[in-house]
Amino acid sequence: MLEQLSQLLFTADPAQRLRLRQTGLALVLMAVCAVVMQDGVRLGEVAAPAVAIWTALSVGGMVLFFVVIRAGWALRLSDPSLTVPQMLFALASGVGAYALIGPLRAAVFPVLVMILMFGMFGLRLRAALWITAYALTLFGIVMLWMSWRRPAVYPPAVELVHFLALCVALPGISVLAGRVSRIRERLRAQREDLSRALEQIRAMATRDELTGLLNRRHMQTLLEQEAQRCLRGGHGYCLALIDLDHFKAINDRFGHGAGDAVLREFAAIGLTVIRGADVLARWGGEEFVLMLAETRMPAARAGVERLRHAIETITLSHEGHEISFTLSAGLTESHPREDLGQTLERADKLLYKAKSEGRNRVVFD
Ligand code: GH3
Ligand code: MG
Ligand code: MG
Repeated sequence: MLEQLSQLLFTADPAQRLRLRQTGLALVLMAVCAVVMQDGVRLGEVAAPAVAIWTALSVGGMVLFFVVIRAGWALRLSDPSLTVPQMLFALASGVGAYALIGPLRAAVFPVLVMILMFGMFGLRLRAALWITAYALTLFGIVMLWMSWRRPAVYPPAVELVHFLALCVALPGISVLAGRVSRIRERLRAQREDLSRALEQIRAMATRDELTGLLNRRHMQTLLEQEAQRCLRGGHGYCLALIDLDHFKAINDRFGHGAGDAVLREFAAIGLTVIRGADVLARWGGEEFVLMLAETRMPAARAGVERLRHAIETITLSHEGHEISFTLSAGLTESHPREDLGQTLERADKLLYKAKSEGRNRVVFD
């Protein structure tokens, strides 16, 4: 029930929630100020109709801010929290209260400090200083005006001291607010850098740099997981050990760079030919492992044969050379209750057989 009310008021989006909570807090504080003003009315220091108008404008204005943010109308703006407009509005309302509550007006000062503190969450130093200038101008004008119109309640000497005090305090607060928001910004940038670096390290730990395929270490983990799954009674899997034919000759004839290009080409074609659930990894040098999870031999054969055929048919252009190449593969199906090493050994023997039988073929058992 409470959760539903909170969703209704603050939405489910975390960023919107934060903005609405902030504005909600400002609204509540404004309402508390209105109640305190009523005290002034009771004490006979403040005129009731003036306070009623002030309350309607100030609290109504904050409600309007809340509604605009809640409805999402501010989302297209560069600051969807409407920090600056809210601060300008609250400061104007503070000036209004200052002019209304006569002998109680010193109570406005702590509220003023609080309004500027809101800027800590989103304002840069420049904006904070502009807002300070705005506040000082407003208060300067009102203090001058009131000490001229009602010198008995707003003695000029007192107003001058009040104004000088504001001139010291407000810029100081703004500088602090600007500093806090700079620290927050730096922290956010650092957090982004860190998560980018983490992403990079993760990729480096699991991928082969040249081909972008999974590396041997990560593939070993995946294969062991698959073997464990089979031991626990899952479906069997097939495993192909693939080796490019006469790869050394490609290196020797066209250069090491051409050999690298062939490895990359093999990886790219491999990834387009295999099914989404299959996993292709670089096992080392020009040797690759293809894991076909939960697959029986006939389907696996068709898959590896498709890859062999795709490789056989393409020609790679590299620095003016047209390079074609082939692969040999040993393909086997996992047996129940055998470990990964045994499956790999069988695939290796079958690969050797494919080589000795003339290469460019898939041998299976
Ligand atoms: P076979 O058909 O019997 O497999 O013959 P092969 O020439 O492919 O096999 P061999 O094991 O004699 O040669 C493999 C070569 O692969 C030797 C090595 O220099 C080369 N090689 C290994 N890793 C890389 C690499 O990352 N880039 C390049 N360009 N060559 C590599
Ligand atoms: Mg080879
Ligand atoms: Mg080899």
